[in-house]
Amino acid sequence: MKKTYIIANWKMQLGVEKSVELFSQIVSNFPEKNKTEVVVCPAYTSLQKVNELNKDKIVKLGAQDVFWEESGAYTGEISCEMLKEIGCEYVIIGHSDRRKYFKEDDEIIHHKAKTALKCSLVPIVCVGETFQERQEGRKDYAIISQVTKALSGIKPVGNNKIIIAYEPVWVIGSGQAINAEEAEHMHQVIRQTIVDLFGVSIMEKNFKIIYGGSISKKIVKTFLIQPNIDGVLVGGASLKPQEFLGIIEEAISIK
Ligand code: PEP
Repeated sequence: MKKTYIIANWKMQLGVEKSVELFSQIVSNFPEKNKTEVVVCPAYTSLQKVNELNKDKIVKLGAQDVFWEESGAYTGEISCEMLKEIGCEYVIIGHSDRRKYFKEDDEIIHHKAKTALKCSLVPIVCVGETFQERQEGRKDYAIISQVTKALSGIKPVGNNKIIIAYEPVWVIGSGQAINAEEAEHMHQVIRQTIVDLFGVSIMEKNFKIIYGGSISKKIVKTFLIQPNIDGVLVGGASLKPQEFLGIIEEAISIK
């Protein structure tokens, strides 16, 4: 049975008090016998308090971004070591919000992923086509290009993990996911791109490919039963405890 990744991106939606409340609800109702890897990514300011609550580490902690330098005079930035110090094991890199509002390009995303990996944080590298790229028939090309540029020259060693999150940009936050079969096709495209870069054994050992974009408990199973979908990145639905716990329950129910 493959391990399923369920990753919550709380974006800039919750302050410390609300983050602690939501996290407490998730851990106190967390299902036993759980073969999922659940990762919660609160805002930077909530990480410390959430980590203090996470004594048993049943849920893993991630950040929503990181800087590519390891230390130095970079006002306003946060390093990988700082994230690790407050309990993070994962970090989201290149989310479409960062690409859109902060003009992060493939080169920046590449540097961030490389530094995260070097510091033993698991990078969750987001890729996804825009609606225009899709309309113009450039969807597969856009994804192959983003994955290649993010990963070229980064070779995972040992048991290092890299997660690629396929998130069609136009679907994020829309309430309307693409269908699971189309997502499976895109995961195959990403898988092939990684195999071309690193070979099949590194793909199998070091990479996971997950889907993000308007996931809810109602539809999550249709995605998770696809052979190449290893998990989901959840935005809006991760802010509602019953909905998010429902997504975890659905994942567990897959035989
Ligand atoms: C996201 O922002 O990464 C995301 C998947 O959001 P939503 O689930 O709300 O579409």
